[in-house]
Parts: sequence; structure tokens; C-alpha cells
Amino acid sequence: MLDLLFHNIGISTGSGRYDIGVKDGLIIRFEPVGAGEELPPAQETIAGEGRILLPGLVEAHIHLDKAFLTEKSPVAAGGLAEAIAVTRALKSHYTYEDISSRATRVLERSARFGVTSMRCQVEVDPIIGLQAMEATLALKEKWRDTIDLQLVVFPQEGIMQRPGTAELMEESLRMGADVVGGIPYNDCSANDHLKIVFDLAEKYGKPVDLHIDFSDNPNELNILMVADETINRGYQGRVAAGHVTSLGSVARDHALQYAEKLAEADLQIICLPATDLYLGGRQDEQAARRGLTPVKLLQAAGVNVTMGTNNIRNAFTPYGTCDPLDIALLLANTAQFGTTVELAKIMEMATSHAARALGLAQYGISVGANADLVLVQADRAEDVIIDRPPRLGVWKNGKKKSEMVVEARRF
Ligand SMILES: [Zn+2]
Repeated sequence: MLDLLFHNIGISTGSGRYDIGVKDGLIIRFEPVGAGEELPPAQETIAGEGRILLPGLVEAHIHLDKAFLTEKSPVAAGGLAEAIAVTRALKSHYTYEDISSRATRVLERSARFGVTSMRCQVEVDPIIGLQAMEATLALKEKWRDTIDLQLVVFPQEGIMQRPGTAELMEESLRMGADVVGGIPYNDCSANDHLKIVFDLAEKYGKPVDLHIDFSDNPNELNILMVADETINRGYQGRVAAGHVTSLGSVARDHALQYAEKLAEADLQIICLPATDLYLGGRQDEQAARRGLTPVKLLQAAGVNVTMGTNNIRNAFTPYGTCDPLDIALLLANTAQFGTTVELAKIMEMATSHAARALGLAQYGISVGANADLVLVQADRAEDVIIDRPPRLGVWKNGKKKSEMVVEARRF
């Protein structure tokens, strides 16, 4: 007997209707309606008319430790340097309890919006020490039945320009962090910074996830160095890069050439539109650039591109609801994805492409995949992006986690 059966349900990647069965935490049946033998009995059957089933949403890049900081300090009106400075000033006042409480608010809201996997950037440096890592490691354990959390060791203040940071990063990996982070634009040498990051990743057998090339300067192209390092070390498919906005200011023929290099290294590019749009183009006096990575150009070259929320209400991004579908709509609008096919692509970027970027196994709506599922009210797949409809239910490994969310946007 099945534990759960969705009968006559739509999916986000096509227009057919399906019967989808779950047992012991896995999807074990996925058939077009009326295709096969009689429907098996199930403990619970959910009628699918007018509804669509999504794979669990993947939050590919978020900062739990600096969420909701606009409640503590006025919003910075300037660009990236001011955002880093304002946040650094607040950081020395963080406590374990404070980090844990703000992070929990993000996790609770994300879970209700259908997030079942999340990669979180955790700051480690001599100002904050290991407090954020300790707090998020505890949350990773506490939330394991609801959201799979991957923790990135993130040296926001640089590595070499903040002596002691490299040692704290290594200690974090020994404590159980999952991914090695880096930020070559905020250090004295991008090249040496990247070497430290890749050396640590190799030593501990971890993937890499960088903040990189976050500017409108077409000559800031550390991503090319990352592509070389990735290929030299055989790390193809295991290196993610967030922002990569300067590539959006590069002339098209050169950008195409660079995109091929990124594809060869199988870099995973994570567009962070809420932050990129807010902080980018600040020096442009008119026709300000959108400051996004060139999503369509990269995809045309074969690069896997996904998206992330990045920040919830701080100096880098004073917005944020914790709903990945809000970010999906923002990206669709600003990167000009509008046709049915393009909106389906945006949905894939928020789900399967993000899962690939994070190296998630057994992901998606297919036989043998983990039953991480989100039920929404929608007639057409593209309406899931446009309406961002209420989540009628969220399941993690086949277990129901959340009932209907209507009011979640009200914090
Ligand atoms: Zn970030």
C-alpha cells in the first residue's frame, strides 16, 4: 500500500496529468493518468484537479546569520562597500542566541514556502569567531527532518587581510561545515585567496562556493581564474559562484567566449537578483545597468545557472520574504523570461538546476527520488511563477511538514 497518492495532478515541467505515489519516503510511482493498471490503494489520496506538484524548492544561496538586521540598524543607502561596513559594525554585537533566533525565523518561513534544501553562507572571522558556525550547525541538526541544510564556511571579511581567518575556516570544516566559501573581491590578492580556498576544499574533500565578481566593472573577471583552477584540480561540477555580475557588463562577443570557458569548467552560476539589482549600477547616472549576470547568454553556452535569495532584510538587500518563488518572478521579469517555455526554464532554475548546483542526489519528481514535494493551487505551470500561489502542503521525505500557507508574507 502506498503512503500517499496524488491523483490526476499536474507537474511544473509539462502539461499532462499524473498519478504520483509515495512510499517509505520515496516516489515509487509516476504515471500519466489512466496509463497503467488500477490505482494502488493508499493511506491518503490527494485529488489533483486544479493543482500542481513541485519538487521541494531549493534555496541555493542565503545568509541566515545576517537576516533581519534592518530591525537593528537603519538601511544603508549606498553601495556594496557601505553594506559591508554597516554589517561589520553590527557583527561584533551578535550572540549565539541572537543568530539562532534570526536564522530560525528564516527557516520557519522558508519551510512554509516549500523549501526542503538550503545552502547557507556562514560567516567565520576573528570578529565573530565560530559563533555563527556553532549556531547554524545546531540548527542543521534540529531542522534535519524538514530542510537539508548545507553550511558554507564564508570569510566575508577576507582571509589574508584578516589574519586568523584561515585557521577558523579549517576549524569549521573539522566541526562539520559542508562547503568552502570565498570572496576574492574582498581581500588583498584574489589569486592567493582562491588558492587558500581550493587547498582547503581539496584537503577536506568539499565543494567550493564563491562570492565573486560583484561589480559592473567588465575587467573584474576573477571567474576566469576560478575556471582554470577548477579544471586544473579536476573540480568540474563542484564549484559554485554567486553574483558574477561584472560579466553582464562585458561586450557580447567576449562574454560568449568567457561563457564557454565557464561551461568547460562546469561552474554552477548562482544569480542573486534581489541583491544584484539593489546594489548594482550605482555609478550609472542614467540608464542604470541591471547588474545581473547574463543569464540567457550563459545558458546558451551550456552553463548551469540557478538563483538564490541571498539576503533577508539587511544592508545588502532591504527586502526578502523567504519565498524562492518571489525571487524566481523577480529574475523572470528582470532577465526577461516571459514565454511559456522561458517560464518553465525559470521553474527548473529554482528546482532541478539549483539541486544540481548543490550536488543534491535523488532530487525531482521521478521514480526513486526523495518525496520532497510542494502542492500548489494552479491550472498552468507558468502560473506557479506568476501567482506564487499558496502552498497547500509541503512534504519532506514523504512526511507532511506544513499545511496551507496564506498569511506567510506577513511577518
Ligand atoms: Zn551571498
